[in-house]
Amino acid sequence: MSKGNTFNRRRFLGAAGAGAVGAMAHSASAQGTLTIRKQAQIPYKPDVLVVGGGPAGIGAALGAASSGANTLLIEHHAFFGGVASWCLGMPINQMRPGNKPRSKLHELILAKLRAYGDQAVRVGEHQLWCNVDYLKVALLDALDDTGCNYLIHTRAIDAVVEGDRIAGVVVATKRGPAVIRAKAIVDCTGDADVAYYAGAETMKEVGSLSPMTLCLNLTNVTSQQVRKANIRDIARKAKKKYPLIPNGWGLGKVSNSSSFYINHAGTRDLGQFDATDPLQRTEAECQSRRQVLQMTLAMREFGGEELKDIELIGTGTQMGVRETRRVKGPYVLTEEDALAGRKFDDVIAWRSGFLDIGFVRLSKMKIHDVPYRAILPARLEGLLMAGRCISATHVAASAGKSMGNCVATGHAAGLAAAMAAKKRCQPRELKVGQLQDTLRADGVDLARGGDSQDELVNKG
Ligand SMILES: Cc1cc2nc3c(=O)[nH]c(=O)nc-3n(C[C@H](O)[C@H](O)[C@H](O)COP(=O)(O)OP(=O)(O)OC[C@H]3O[C@@H](n4cnc5c(N)ncnc54)[C@H](O)[C@@H]3O)c2cc1C
Repeated sequence: MSKGNTFNRRRFLGAAGAGAVGAMAHSASAQGTLTIRKQAQIPYKPDVLVVGGGPAGIGAALGAASSGANTLLIEHHAFFGGVASWCLGMPINQMRPGNKPRSKLHELILAKLRAYGDQAVRVGEHQLWCNVDYLKVALLDALDDTGCNYLIHTRAIDAVVEGDRIAGVVVATKRGPAVIRAKAIVDCTGDADVAYYAGAETMKEVGSLSPMTLCLNLTNVTSQQVRKANIRDIARKAKKKYPLIPNGWGLGKVSNSSSFYINHAGTRDLGQFDATDPLQRTEAECQSRRQVLQMTLAMREFGGEELKDIELIGTGTQMGVRETRRVKGPYVLTEEDALAGRKFDDVIAWRSGFLDIGFVRLSKMKIHDVPYRAILPARLEGLLMAGRCISATHVAASAGKSMGNCVATGHAAGLAAAMAAKKRCQPRELKVGQLQDTLRADGVDLARGGDSQDELVNKG
């Protein structure tokens, strides 16, 4: 494309990949004409494209690549892990419920962490406590093991839609936009970005979205001092001077280190923010940065002898986003399914943990199945989704949010995408029995639905 040429968005997409015209024409007309002066080329032609490298995307990429599919994982940030990496040491829950292996992929991630020794990971009853800088490299090691290709600093910004099928995504790179086409695509963006850009039906509870949180790391304090400090009291006393602080928070020890992380209620009392709205997102991120400083200063000034020397080491790359869009599938998982431990014939994963909404309510749930119909969009072909944006109600989405569960739905979606690409069929046309057999061969026990999980309740 020569310098200075003016292309409108439809022409750009048409030039970028045969048949790409038509993608997102609706947004182009809403925004007016876009001028694309530089177009990048991406040298990969994947069968399976996984978008988003959080827990779900890692599961999907490892699942697809380990089954032999030519797989490309793209991630908008500079590293993989998503919230697991941004939240600076909080537990990766439900990776080994009951302290038993959950699948070959969950174990691969653990093995790669363990290879770096005690500093990298400590294994709990069901959770992994990681140092996130080891985690980021362990995830690269796992991806390399399976032969998965990956690109970081690559953000999906649009979709290429042909008829009723998504055929590729448009990505933003430092060389300009590029089109990546694939036989099957897995949306693991957490926000259902790809599905949304492609015009699939999505759900979002504006007005009651769970809060976002900018996590922080602290040092120069001991476990004993942390145990003695009364954070609720500190928060109460400091609130007048530091109005952005939450009403209380807990300090958790970063695995095998002398530092602490704080995961807290974030924006809950600051207002309702939709992380997919640029203005609201900006306000929430900026307020959260101020909030973190105020929390630290509150502890130093109102925390007495115990916390007076506490030091802020750093904050997450961005806020952790708990909830935005979810894709509507042929089946929508519900709170009742989670509470009853519902089983489905087309089970492809199960979820354990606890049911929580906006830090207000905790209640028991049972291990419950995720049906294949909840990782497919209702109508669009060529696409699967995994993790935070699967087809579930507001409450049920929260129930399955633990990262081990997201790896599990990613695993199933990645494998399904690989099988569909190999059979040259749509993911919707797959025989679910064959997918289930492949998951079982990967060590997934698909018969856990309905089991009680007393030993895990309220532990994430
Ligand atoms: C503050 C907070 C605390 C939590 N605490 C815990 C806990 O203690 N234990 C636990 O197990 N779970 C916890 N959770 C839940 C858990 O972290 C999430 O449910 C889980 O990370 C969701 O995984 P995901 O892969 O679906 O999405 P995410 O982790 O959000 O990952 C999405 C990835 O996609 C990338 N991406 C997004 N859009 C694009 C795009 N357009 N193009 C390219 N890449 C893109 C992002 O950069 C990110 O890497 C917490 C969540 C939050 C927010």
